[in-house]
Amino acid sequence: MVKSKKKIAILICTALMAGQFSVGIFQPIKEFSNTAYAKEVNTVKKAKNVIMMIPDGTSVEAVTLARLYYDLKKDGIPGNDSLNMDSILTGLVKTYWQDGPITDSAPGGTAYSTGFKSEDKHVGVLSTKDGNIPKSTLLEAAREADKATGMVVTCEAMHATPADYASHVANRNQYNSIMKQMVYGKFDVVLGGGDRQLSSEARSADGKTQYRKDGIDLRKELKNMGYDYVTNKNELTSTKSSKLWGIFAPQAMSPDIDRERLTPEEPTLQEMTNKAINVLSKDKDGFFLMVEGSQIDWAGHANDPSQIVSETVAYDKAVKAAMDFAKKDGNTVVISASDHSTGGGTLGMVGLGEDIGKSYSSVTFEDTIMKLTKAKASSALIGSELKGKDENTIKTEVKEYFSFEDLTKEEITEIQAGNLSSVISKRVGIAWTSNNHTAGDVGLYCYAPLGIEKLTGLVENTDVAKYLEKVTGLDLALTTDKLFGNAKTEFDKLGATISIDASDVDNPVVNVSKSGHILKLNGFTDKGTFDGTKVNFNGVIVLITKDGKTYNEKDIYIPEDVLTKFKEYVNAGKVVESIVKEVKPVKPIKPIKPIKPIKPIKPIKPIKPVIKSSPVKTGVVTAKSGLNVRSSNTSESSKVGLLKYNTSVTIIGEEGGWYKIKYGKSQGYTFKSYIKF
Ligand SMILES: [Zn+2]
Repeated sequence: MVKSKKKIAILICTALMAGQFSVGIFQPIKEFSNTAYAKEVNTVKKAKNVIMMIPDGTSVEAVTLARLYYDLKKDGIPGNDSLNMDSILTGLVKTYWQDGPITDSAPGGTAYSTGFKSEDKHVGVLSTKDGNIPKSTLLEAAREADKATGMVVTCEAMHATPADYASHVANRNQYNSIMKQMVYGKFDVVLGGGDRQLSSEARSADGKTQYRKDGIDLRKELKNMGYDYVTNKNELTSTKSSKLWGIFAPQAMSPDIDRERLTPEEPTLQEMTNKAINVLSKDKDGFFLMVEGSQIDWAGHANDPSQIVSETVAYDKAVKAAMDFAKKDGNTVVISASDHSTGGGTLGMVGLGEDIGKSYSSVTFEDTIMKLTKAKASSALIGSELKGKDENTIKTEVKEYFSFEDLTKEEITEIQAGNLSSVISKRVGIAWTSNNHTAGDVGLYCYAPLGIEKLTGLVENTDVAKYLEKVTGLDLALTTDKLFGNAKTEFDKLGATISIDASDVDNPVVNVSKSGHILKLNGFTDKGTFDGTKVNFNGVIVLITKDGKTYNEKDIYIPEDVLTKFKEYVNAGKVVESIVKEVKPVKPIKPIKPIKPIKPIKPIKPIKPVIKSSPVKTGVVTAKSGLNVRSSNTSESSKVGLLKYNTSVTIIGEEGGWYKIKYGKSQGYTFKSYIKF
């Protein structure tokens, strides 16, 4: 609560600062109820567009490492180059969650998307004494205000941060419910990875795991809804559609530093950001775009020095894309703020410099971060490939990817144990405090056009949402009322009874009956039927479940539009024209390019032993000794024995006598290599 004297002082101060604009059009200052530190921001105009950028898991120290790396890699001269985000730094963000100091991404991102601190693993859901209730996100509020909406990530689309903006679940692992909400939420642009959760045909690399078991193909649904569905950089570049899903990998996309080598067909975060801005900015009502540098966090979890700096620099290029647009546009606010820190990596490990006869304070750039500028791969990825390998292989690979030629016996032993990241970290002087998240404040970055005050100082993560609400004029509370009425309460008032059919847990159906009529609502979609006639609603039906298996009729949330149409139906006794008609017509689009049919991946019986010339083009084989394997599709040099004996691999294609394979996974990566029989 702010005392009125202080409030007046703030108003006068801001009025003076904004002297060139007409004074006296400030809206009444809104009272914030969630935190004591809520930021009061005054604007003399509204922002038409918002680009919210989240470098997941990026500590202040990680930005320092990335800046040093970028600066030295560019020209070897320290101090003359800075990151793009450096120019818009405005403060720090406190990231703690409802009950503790170290947040998970789910409540961390929920604070940014809804303005509420929440419980561990909660996505777009607030825990209250009345249970877990969905709260509107800024992305949904923008959609309801007829703005274009989009999300760009390098993780799977249903991962915590994008889920925080587009869905409502009590546990972030409820991927199938999240993906349905993302699809039926009708956001205009979604770019990232995660094809596996869209189709019941998709399987894991080893063919054993089927992620969707409900027979649904959400890619077909997207096509029916008028989206163009693209799967590589070329298709992304050439599409002209205003409604666009681009899913470029079955799971996560490649780490930026490995992309050219492993999956050159994938676009970069900057390319995806540019495309999203290009598509969304055509909407005359403005847009809300969320961009996540998803894998900085994973590099922190893996304590991977080469990935954390390269991934942060890749993210910074996306920040540049956003800033370039915002500066030209003059009506766009750009915010960048991490949801938490991860890994606790700092330059300054215990004993730094001792092995080269120096004190920490006489260690030079060449002794430390300069060495990292020669890295050509993420060390976690190469590290897992080198686990258990012979000395020669290790020496060759470490020389090729990290330019270290003088590995000690101890270091080789450490790499054989799978700890390459630790070896590289020590070589460059980086120490880590955790394989998980840490509690440190994170950097706040804000760009706002003339006439809109920036968010500055030490703020709560929830203040970011409140700031964006204020500067755009979007109203989260009103949107929550519009999208998430409690079904039990509302239908009780109308004398209707409800029950849930949860026999298919990913596709629960809510049955509403009154006077012999039945309304069926399909969970996590915008669809239903009135006595068998199909109806679309404006908004998604959300059922909150703690365990992901059981549903309770008290925890069903429905958009206002369901009630409006239900009343209309019951009054008329039949489905009338206005009910069947969609409330929000889909924008007209150009004819859709047919979706590239994805071959069903049937698990093939392992073929053993491996024969000289493999008769299979796709399928699962068991690798044996003597195979030629190379981890690069750009280098012809073959590496023998990189693959563990008896590793199951999936052949996904053939190029010039080399079979392209996928095998194993770690930290969310699927390893891709080439193999020769
Ligand atoms: Zn996170």
